[in-house]
Amino acid sequence: MGKPQYTNMAVFQMQLSEGWIIGAGMTGLAASYASGVTALESEMRPGGICRSYLVPSPAGDYRFEVGGGHWVFGGDPVMNRFLNRFDEWKPYRRRSSVYFPESGLTVPYPVQNHLSAFGPEIAAKCVAEMRRERKSAPRTMAEALEWQFGPTLSELFFAPFHDLYTAGLWTRIAPQDFFKSPLDLEQIERGARGEPAPQAGYNQTFLYPAEGLDTFADSLAGNAAVETGARVARIDTARRRLEMADGRVLGYEWLLSTAPLDEMLRLAGVVVDEEPGPATAVLVVNLGGVRGPKCPDDHWLYVPRSRSGFHRVGFYSNVSSKFLPAGTQGRVSVYVERGFRRGVRPGEEEIGEYLRQVGDELVEWGFLESVEASASNWVETAYTWTMPGSRWRSTALARLSDLGIHMTGRYGKWQFQGIADSLRDGLLAGALLRARGTAR
Ligand SMILES: Cc1cc2nc3c(=O)[nH]c(=O)nc-3n(C[C@H](O)[C@H](O)[C@H](O)COP(=O)(O)OP(=O)(O)OC[C@H]3O[C@@H](n4cnc5c(N)ncnc54)[C@H](O)[C@@H]3O)c2cc1C
Repeated sequence: MGKPQYTNMAVFQMQLSEGWIIGAGMTGLAASYASGVTALESEMRPGGICRSYLVPSPAGDYRFEVGGGHWVFGGDPVMNRFLNRFDEWKPYRRRSSVYFPESGLTVPYPVQNHLSAFGPEIAAKCVAEMRRERKSAPRTMAEALEWQFGPTLSELFFAPFHDLYTAGLWTRIAPQDFFKSPLDLEQIERGARGEPAPQAGYNQTFLYPAEGLDTFADSLAGNAAVETGARVARIDTARRRLEMADGRVLGYEWLLSTAPLDEMLRLAGVVVDEEPGPATAVLVVNLGGVRGPKCPDDHWLYVPRSRSGFHRVGFYSNVSSKFLPAGTQGRVSVYVERGFRRGVRPGEEEIGEYLRQVGDELVEWGFLESVEASASNWVETAYTWTMPGSRWRSTALARLSDLGIHMTGRYGKWQFQGIADSLRDGLLAGALLRARGTAR
């Protein structure tokens, strides 16, 4: 990896550079690749939440990912050419469903296009509710979902799912990402009559690299300039200096940051006089074991209710057998995601107990017969949200930009996006910053 060398690391010795990139996740790596500018990364490895790791078991090593299954949707032919420079990427057609554990019912995603699964009466009621005249415009995500899908389907799926997914925030935050829940009334009616529904939604196909996402992150880093173990602890915006956790001071003309927007405000000591956009954390539980008799072939399932409070369970090994111990048969490698409010990270003991509960629940569902490897990861800023009518995000971005701190990527810009868009953001920002004299 192109790790830059520092001549002297003494405290107060300042290294001056025109600009720095903060973070070497997918966005920062792409920006460094395109610009040649050094990305400062607090962790010891690049890739951000897109990293894999191995967990030993009596059967051999399971491969898991820090942020749960990361399947690259939203690519286009040009992005695909870019990706294929680093590895061979395999295309997949999404297999995903909604799973109702209390009845064992599995309904293909998106659930609104497959209403016949609930029987003719419920299907007809849902359609009538979606066809009804709508009055006032929704303000919150909870209102928007009921406004779109009506009370019956909301109660069946959208309400409990979003309650878990947003860790209870859905009744307060603004609606966002409508594209995740498409509303095509003609299709919904066909689905209610039991006619086959074509694929729909934003992630109908996806790519995954043959050698895994961490190998991709490493190859990208090898063609970029990354300094790992380099945490920015404070930003002196008046003197344009980065104070590093290891005591170094780095001067800058401009910064391109991929760290979360609220964290950057804190580091730069910028106060925005408005309630910050909330974010939620995710606890990812990774389990490997003997495949249960009812383990589906889906890549992932949305779960509106589960005893252990998770809202999604995915199956790494239904995408690639490389997530399983080499040469084994009849095994499965699984991830589940549970949303939390930020700042309430459970203790190690609680997480250990939680791992057991999730394992037990998946065994009860027949997805696993037994668990032989488990691990967990905490993603402190996983999903970002906005309060209705809030100007916090735009004000924060503008205030930082005025100080020469440009924000990009999913967390920098405080918006939902997948890896392909994060890479696009990074490549574009990197290309723009490489041109001389553009970066003030
Ligand atoms: C649960 C979950 C599931 C997802 N699933 C998918 C999926 O299936 N497909 C898909 O395409 N996308 C998925 N995504 C989105 C995807 O993870 C993001 O688009 C992408 O990882 C964002 O990359 P990034 O570089 O912008 O952010 P990050 O990966 O968060 O990188 C930011 C980097 O900045 C570093 N940093 C932060 N603060 C500092 C500091 N002070 N000093 C130095 N370094 C710092 C961090 O350590 C980190 O490495 C998912 C996201 C989540 C949360």
